[in-house]
Amino acid sequence: MNDGDLFESISGPVPGPRSLELAQSLARFESRGVTYLAKDFPVFWESASGALITDVDGNRYIDLTAAFGVANTGHSNPYVAAAVADQAVRLMHGMGDVHPTEVRVQLLEKLAQITPDGLEKTFLCSTGAEAVEFALKTAFLKTKKPHTIAYHNAYHGLSLGALAVSGIAKFREPFAPLVTSGTTWLTYPTMASGTDAALREIEQALKNDAAIGAIILEPIQGRGGVIVPPAGFLAGVRAICDRTKIVMILDEIYTGFGRTGAMFACEHENVVPDLLCIGKAIANGVPLSATVGRAAVMDAWETSTGEALHTSTYLGNPLACAAALANIYEIERFDLVHSVRARAQLLAGRLARLRQYTKSVREIRGLGYMWAIEFTSTEIATTVVKKALQRGVILLQSGPTGSSITIAPPLTIEQSQLERALTICETIVGEIKR
Ligand code: PLP
Repeated sequence: MNDGDLFESISGPVPGPRSLELAQSLARFESRGVTYLAKDFPVFWESASGALITDVDGNRYIDLTAAFGVANTGHSNPYVAAAVADQAVRLMHGMGDVHPTEVRVQLLEKLAQITPDGLEKTFLCSTGAEAVEFALKTAFLKTKKPHTIAYHNAYHGLSLGALAVSGIAKFREPFAPLVTSGTTWLTYPTMASGTDAALREIEQALKNDAAIGAIILEPIQGRGGVIVPPAGFLAGVRAICDRTKIVMILDEIYTGFGRTGAMFACEHENVVPDLLCIGKAIANGVPLSATVGRAAVMDAWETSTGEALHTSTYLGNPLACAAALANIYEIERFDLVHSVRARAQLLAGRLARLRQYTKSVREIRGLGYMWAIEFTSTEIATTVVKKALQRGVILLQSGPTGSSITIAPPLTIEQSQLERALTICETIVGEIKR
């Protein structure tokens, strides 16, 4: 591969004619609430490799999103792809909670090994929302208390159970009558608001409602705009949970598998939750998620005597388990956790420079390879995303109103690719009218 092949390559209009043609069909046949379609957005992806995406018109882009924080070991990672192909010809589908597979056992053992000490038993599922719902059910079985503390602007998924603890108003409000109301909403702390006030809020919530049995939180709010809490917050939550015997559910669906420069973000504070929800980058693109928990909490479930009380058709799907095992092997083989840690400063430094170009950048925040550029308005963020696409960089808005852009590239992105994409972003940000 010569240097040119490592970078973006835009050879025609974006979106090109084939993307526009496919958009017409999509508009006709897909439920209309799903894909935002406009003259200048989106492009239809055809293939991807590492940090590069190629669209159906042959345009190539550098991906600074890892496609929602999934492709940590690079898009279409060859080792993961080979493991999936090999598994597919032997056994594509198992029988969930009835007849298990060896590859599932191997993955369960591996998850117990790589998650923080004390987390041992796992429930496998397919989407992040399912992992969250399993955790909520488990906490209820353990405590017999139905209520939960959750955070404004938290994102835990959009199925009804997960929506009950997801704090982004625009997703909840249209379905409010369907969503259970047993959630106490607190404000996620920032560096500015500090740890003490946040911990006092939890204590107060527990005094106000004796039916609270669990707290669910992200160690860094991801879709909420990459909100990094102050030091000591997670450890403080852990201490309150220990004292009051409520279940601590940590949602690492976004932050897990090396994203923040630790295998799991809770390791930065040496905190071990009772239940850890993981998904997204676990299998690098094959749908898989899990809740991993302390045995004493997970054993709130009775031993199965025939029919599982909670399961799904694709539980422990062999393709997904094979993909996850190969993917975790890749994370370990390339020591991606340490490589992110070593390279994060460079990314942070380049992003910090953006503030020199415009007053429209309100804040830069993040950790490892998970950052947000917060702009002064949603419109500016939208314009930056669209201009970046025109010039060959894939970006994604985040934050409750979309005023931030998340930078979360594949962890394997070449340094030169990252620098190139950031230079393009700098140029675009420099064009924003002050
Ligand atoms: N939890 C977090 C922290 C997430 O970022 C997401 C998705 O973005 C979810 C849960 C939901 O995962 P899924 O979309 O796979 O249901």
